[in-house]
Amino acid sequence: MIVAMLEDATEEQIDAVIEVMDEAGVNVHRTTGAMQTILAAVGPTAGLDLSKFEVLPGVQRVHRISSPYKLAGRAWRPEGTVVEFPNGATIGGKQVAMIAGPCAIENREQIFTTAAAVKAAGGGFLRGGAFKPRSSPYSFQGLGIPGLELMREAAHTNGLATVSEVMEISQIEAMLPYVDCFQVGARNMQNFNLLRELGQVRRPVLLKRGIAATIEELLLSSEYILSGGNYDVILCERGIRTYETSTRNTMDISAIPVVKKLSHLPIVGDPSHGTGRRDMVPAMARAAVAAGADALLIEIHPNADKAVSDAAQTLYLDDFAKLTAELRLIAGAVGRTL
Ligand code: PEP
Ligand code: MN
Repeated sequence: MIVAMLEDATEEQIDAVIEVMDEAGVNVHRTTGAMQTILAAVGPTAGLDLSKFEVLPGVQRVHRISSPYKLAGRAWRPEGTVVEFPNGATIGGKQVAMIAGPCAIENREQIFTTAAAVKAAGGGFLRGGAFKPRSSPYSFQGLGIPGLELMREAAHTNGLATVSEVMEISQIEAMLPYVDCFQVGARNMQNFNLLRELGQVRRPVLLKRGIAATIEELLLSSEYILSGGNYDVILCERGIRTYETSTRNTMDISAIPVVKKLSHLPIVGDPSHGTGRRDMVPAMARAAVAAGADALLIEIHPNADKAVSDAAQTLYLDDFAKLTAELRLIAGAVGRTL
């Protein structure tokens, strides 16, 4: 259930409505936007009599939300969520954000050279994996915390925010000093214990769509984080597994407008994992921006062919610079900046 307060509702009226909702045994999540306050009730709402809330002073309208996700639903924050980062960058606003970096942090020179290229292209986020979910246990598993130390330093030098994947609950605390945004990878989209724990931290989370997940399942997974009170969730379309074998995954561009319609959460396009092929990354990056993506996640590396993971889909730094310039034109054509 969603209770929309009148634009001129007073704090006393809002508090009084929250009290009645509390008494009804539901959890109340409040959001106050530029125009009005919205109160979302989570819990046993099925048996509630809506008219009981409609008549309270200051209430504009009460809706029953039939979708299974409540906090992720667009109705909870009609104006959309803008996630803010300590370096001043945002995801979800007018500006399309650029998140780029190597699939895996490998060494100091690699991450510093990459960070400088992200900065030079106008990007705001350096992303690098330190804990890597590899299909084979014999593949490189990442540098761990020493890798994150390098990335933090490289990002700091270039005024960038950092993003890195967390694979399990025990890594959260250790990663906090180094990451401005936790990435949850496709394979962990339904690791509900991890999602719940990330609901307890106050740090943005970039949640990737599972390899075979529907958009509804992605939104339900985000609900695990949101219902813990961490409202800074960013979704990511990274391709899904279909019967098509020409590309590593099938990048579902239509997921971008679908998420925009159903949810207030920002959505990122990841054409690197979406295609798995360097020659196809630019086309799908352009498509994602045209479709309304709030950010792009792109794997780049100074020596892309030699990257220890995901080399085939990794862009060289000069190709990344060229792509960013093209994306800037497309962003402008659809009323955004980059
Ligand atoms: C990655 O971002 O490098 C990664 C492993 O992605 P995904 O979880 O989408 O496969
Ligand atoms: Mn990768």
